[in-house]
Amino acid sequence: MKRRRFLQMAGAGLGSALLGSNARAQQRGRGYRRPNILFIMSDDHTSQAIGCYGLRLSAYARTKNIDRIAAEGAILRNCFCTNSICVPSRASILTGQYGHLNGAKTLSGRLDPAADNVAKHLQAAGYQTAVVGKWHLKEQPAGFDYYNVLRGQGRYNDPILFEKGADWRTGGKTHPGHSTDVITDQALNWLEEGRDPNKPFALMCHFKAVHEPFYSHERYRTLYADQDLPEPEDLHWPESPRGKRFEGWPLKILAGRFQKNAQRYAPPKLDAEGRDAKAIRSATYQKFMKDYLRTVAGIDDNVGRLLNWVDQTGKARDTVVIYTADQGYFLGEHNLFDKRFMLEESLRMPFVIRYPRQIKPGTDVGDIILNIDFAELFLDFARAPIPKSMQGRSFRPSLRGRTPNDWRDAMYYHYWSHQKERPSHYGVRTKRYKLIYYYGLLRMGKRPEECWEFYDLKTDPREQTSQYDEPMHQDTIAQLRQRLAQLRTQYGDTTDPLSVAPS
Ligand code: CA
Repeated sequence: MKRRRFLQMAGAGLGSALLGSNARAQQRGRGYRRPNILFIMSDDHTSQAIGCYGLRLSAYARTKNIDRIAAEGAILRNCFCTNSICVPSRASILTGQYGHLNGAKTLSGRLDPAADNVAKHLQAAGYQTAVVGKWHLKEQPAGFDYYNVLRGQGRYNDPILFEKGADWRTGGKTHPGHSTDVITDQALNWLEEGRDPNKPFALMCHFKAVHEPFYSHERYRTLYADQDLPEPEDLHWPESPRGKRFEGWPLKILAGRFQKNAQRYAPPKLDAEGRDAKAIRSATYQKFMKDYLRTVAGIDDNVGRLLNWVDQTGKARDTVVIYTADQGYFLGEHNLFDKRFMLEESLRMPFVIRYPRQIKPGTDVGDIILNIDFAELFLDFARAPIPKSMQGRSFRPSLRGRTPNDWRDAMYYHYWSHQKERPSHYGVRTKRYKLIYYYGLLRMGKRPEECWEFYDLKTDPREQTSQYDEPMHQDTIAQLRQRLAQLRTQYGDTTDPLSVAPS
């Protein structure tokens, strides 16, 4: 054994001996090198805007560091969130549960500090745990040895972070700079100076970017300046030719914000003067994409700083590095922006992971994986017991190219918030098909928005036409309705959602 490796192992042994409080963790640690876990998550960064995904804008996205994680590890092609919006997705990642169990079903949801979460289990297994950046779960983070977080959405410039030990309501401290840089600085500070080096670490680094208003650092403002980014083919299609009943959030809403709240967005201001509706939509799209991709470039440079730290401190082989985002996002597809819907652009989460000890470079995973699986993956890597309350499953075998025979063939989705343009819905997606049920609100004994959508993703991958009424699909739809009912039972989401107060 090389001396350095021996010293590393001796160090890990010492760390276990110091644990004391958890004998089982000590036993599990013996002979197995529990990896560090560096979980990097941004907000609303969709896979169409990441190079390694090879999707619509991938060729334009400056994401060489995120791409490097995939090239040196694995890329997940079918990773989905169970409710495509910030608070619920974050709560599901931490608890391994759907929102109807962890209590965070909508943006106003919260994570009870007394409730179970993965950080508490990693702590019990001997990890040093920390979260830096966007938290958004209302209550003080629990289960973390250290935190320094944006309590809510936070702001892009000179963000106010709340550090462990300071008053949760009034103890915020302003940090000069752009939030992506600041959050990375704070993460690196903790890695360098704040943690106990005798324990493995689990650090969640959550960027505020690329969330609207997509505000980049000034150093990226010349990117794409003389370029036009390609429009999605359905950007200018008539509003509802496809069997979709809901308007969603079309780009004209963003155009209005660009004009009325111009100071919230990075310059230059949208120029709508003397232009017709089609030209304004195109100009809105161009500004939206340039602002978005410039902010992405800032994320990627900071992912590079974190990766460099891991590599330069000799921790590459012993650190699981993950890059993901809390959900996907519409980048003008269907003439939409924002998320929430069960349509692909919004449903899909980017997820790349590197861990040289267990994952071969260039691994490509097509299995259906959910945000409720992340917690169990971490615990699996830590060789810590997995609590029965978690509803996901570790996908470590999939990352090693050994998908279990009984891996899920379908996923369940439930979006709880309700607006006329973006109604609440639940649904099921298999590798090929998707069935969505918009249950609508009960008004005067009726559910005016109630309807179903069905897509064959093989023949209609961009979900342009709901084929719910097509005779040729009726057998498939009947099977999917059964599967949907079965999944609702499996996950315990069987109460009529209209009878449940939103939270
Ligand atoms: Ca989000």
